[in-house]
Amino acid sequence: MTQRRLRSSLTTVAVSRSSFFRHQKFRAYRTSIPPKPFQNRISISELRAKKAFLIDMDGVIYHQEKIIPGAKEALEWLQVQKKDFLFITNSSQRSPRELQAKLCRMGIEVDESRFYTSALSTAAFIASQTPHGSAFVIGEPGLLQAIYDAGYVTNDVNPDFVIVGESRHYNFDQITRAVSLVQNGARLIGTNSDLVDKKGEESQEFVPACGSLIRPIEAACQVDAFFVGKPSPMMVREALKRLNSSAADSIIIGDRMDTDILGGVQSNLQTALVLTGVSDRAIVSRFAYQPDLLLDSIASIISNPK
Ligand SMILES: [Mg+2]
Repeated sequence: MTQRRLRSSLTTVAVSRSSFFRHQKFRAYRTSIPPKPFQNRISISELRAKKAFLIDMDGVIYHQEKIIPGAKEALEWLQVQKKDFLFITNSSQRSPRELQAKLCRMGIEVDESRFYTSALSTAAFIASQTPHGSAFVIGEPGLLQAIYDAGYVTNDVNPDFVIVGESRHYNFDQITRAVSLVQNGARLIGTNSDLVDKKGEESQEFVPACGSLIRPIEAACQVDAFFVGKPSPMMVREALKRLNSSAADSIIIGDRMDTDILGGVQSNLQTALVLTGVSDRAIVSRFAYQPDLLLDSIASIISNPK
């Protein structure tokens, strides 16, 4: 191969690789490729025998304000069986108490301590890195509360961290301030790397999520943010610690290949993908890693005890 052709082929590899990753993320929730046959590696009985369950919320328990059929009964089964379980969500907008109230409106009563959000995980991470520090925060009340509870104060002059979570109040002034602070030495943290969220239960449209909101700051500062939420093993391991359970005794149930299932795989947990949310059956075979079990919905854990 001539020098010129080699250079051109390397350029093609570099370009197609970066667009591949972007494209692969997009394909995490939308594809027209026909599904390949999927072989479960564990049975529903093996799932039911687990001691602890890490359960994603949106797309698994509910869509926005609407409960997924059978979710209530599945959660009741977990409680009757005295299983340990923890809701583990990349959503940073709401505090555990607000999430508890949301489930309560759907007729599901669980203790506030059963919720672990990317906001809590982010707050724990920054407090472990720099105790009693300060942060400039772009996000919603759930994130701010977690930051305060971790012993932090907000600071828009010389913070230790710039933290970005999901936000509906995201504007040019905030981006400009964040860019200036990062350029002056603040470390850039994202609560979660999800690029988009589904716009609504029936909608095929998506809205920008934290991973997209943080991109302009990364680009302007030429830095990569550090993300704490799923699929980071940091969040999954902390969840296991809270449940006082080992990876071998636990399973993660989620609706996204790129966060829930990857988070489990990277933490040596067995994984179950439910088909009621973002990732559909067709997309599963496109990933290098696979879930251990495919479930039509979380209701399958009680309605199909094979
Ligand atoms: Mg989800």
